[in-house]
Amino acid sequence: MDCIFCKIIAGEVFSEKVFENENIFAFLDINPKAKIHVLVVPKKHIKSVKHLEQADKNLAGELFLVAQKIAKEKNLEGYKLVINVGREGGQLVDHLHLHLLSGDV
Ligand code: AMP
Repeated sequence: MDCIFCKIIAGEVFSEKVFENENIFAFLDINPKAKIHVLVVPKKHIKSVKHLEQADKNLAGELFLVAQKIAKEKNLEGYKLVINVGREGGQLVDHLHLHLLSGDV
């Protein structure tokens, strides 16, 4: 599958890894839109929020908990969490991801 985030998760494309467990991978955005810009990504290839299923309920929740954990570890006082959905929603990479942004957002 020709998915840049799947390649990052597999270690085939370099990324600045921030967090990894069995379900989730997080790394620095290559083109940061804030002082802190981390992408939190499920390892499972899910195209977008539109493609989430009941079986993904725990995984979807874990995305937020991992973002919270990263924010805590980075001592972020406040932050913005963004998920773009579809081209008209600003989604350019078709692998579900949550943007964690903080500072000058
Ligand atoms: P979105 O527009 O929500 O699909 O966001 C995709 C994000 O992925 C953008 O903020 C890009 O800067 C980022 N991005 C694309 N390719 C890479 C890469 N190889 N490493 C890190 N971030 C990337």
